[in-house]
Amino acid sequence: MDKYIEILTSSFTGYGHYLFQEITQPSWHNYFYWLIGLSLMVWVIEIIIPWVDRGTAFRKDFWLDGFYMIFNFFIFSLVGYNAISDVAVEMFNDVLAWGGMENLVAVEIGSWPVVLQWLTMFVVVDFVQWFIHILLHRIPFLWEFHKLHHSVKEMGFAAHFRFHWMEIVVYKTLQYIPLAMIGFGIQDFFIIHVFTILVGHLNHSNIGWDYGPFKYLLNNPKMHIWHHAKILPYEHRYGANFGQSLSIWDYIFKTAYIPKDGKNIELGFPGDEEYPQGVKKQWLAPFIKSSKSSN
Ligand SMILES: [Zn+2]
Ligand SMILES: [Zn+2]
Repeated sequence: MDKYIEILTSSFTGYGHYLFQEITQPSWHNYFYWLIGLSLMVWVIEIIIPWVDRGTAFRKDFWLDGFYMIFNFFIFSLVGYNAISDVAVEMFNDVLAWGGMENLVAVEIGSWPVVLQWLTMFVVVDFVQWFIHILLHRIPFLWEFHKLHHSVKEMGFAAHFRFHWMEIVVYKTLQYIPLAMIGFGIQDFFIIHVFTILVGHLNHSNIGWDYGPFKYLLNNPKMHIWHHAKILPYEHRYGANFGQSLSIWDYIFKTAYIPKDGKNIELGFPGDEEYPQGVKKQWLAPFIKSSKSSN
C-alpha cells in the first residue's frame, strides 16, 4: 500500500514540476509551446482563408473551447489523472505478476528502427481510437459524455479539445491493453503526438480543405464536419467518419459519409437545444442523466 501512495504523491509533484518546466523553459521538445504555436498557426489560416466567412476571428464558444484545450491537455493531468493512472498501471502489473505473467508484450517493437516504431505506434493507436470513438457513439452511457464534443455549433480549431475529461479516462483505459501488447517500445513519440494535434486542429478548423487525393488517407475538415452533422441518414444513425488522424478506417469499414460539400450544414445532435452551456453544467450533465435513468 505504501508503494502505491508513494507513486501517487511522486506523480503529483512530478507532473507539477514538469508543467512548470514546460512553461518556463521553451524548447523544441515542449508540448505547451507546440500547442500554442499550432493553435495560432491554424487560427491565422482560418482568419486569412475562412471556409465560412463569419466576419469575426472569434467564433461562438471560442473562449469556452480555449478553456477546454488548456484544461484537457494540461490541467486534468496535473490535478490527478496522471497520478491515478500511474497507480492503476502499477496495480495492473502487480496483478499480472500475481498471475505469473511478466507483461502483456505480444510483439516487441522496441528493437525496430525508430521510424518504424513511430509508424506502428501511430497506426495502432489511431485504429484503436477509431474503434473507441465508435463505442462513445454506440454505448448510451458513453454517449452522454461524448455529447459535449458534439455540442459544437460552429467549427474552429479549438473545438478539437472540447470534450469531457471522462473521455481521457475512457480512451487511456481502453487503449492500455492493446498498447501494452506492443510493449510501449517507443523511442520518441513526441513528433507523432505533435502531428496528431495538428491534424485534429485542422479537422475542426473553419478551413475548406480535404488534401486532394490524400483525403483517403488523412482525416480532413471536409470529412470531419460530417461527423458533427446534426442530421444523418438512418444507416449512419450512430454517426459517421469516426477517424482521428487517419480516414482509411472509415473507408475500409464503410463508416465514411460525405454526401456533398458540408460548408453550411447544421452542426450538433438531435436535442442539443436542451444541452447546458457552461463548463460546470456540461461536466455534471452525464452524471445527472445516468443517476436519473437508473432510478
Ligand atoms: Zn463523435
Ligand atoms: Zn470532432
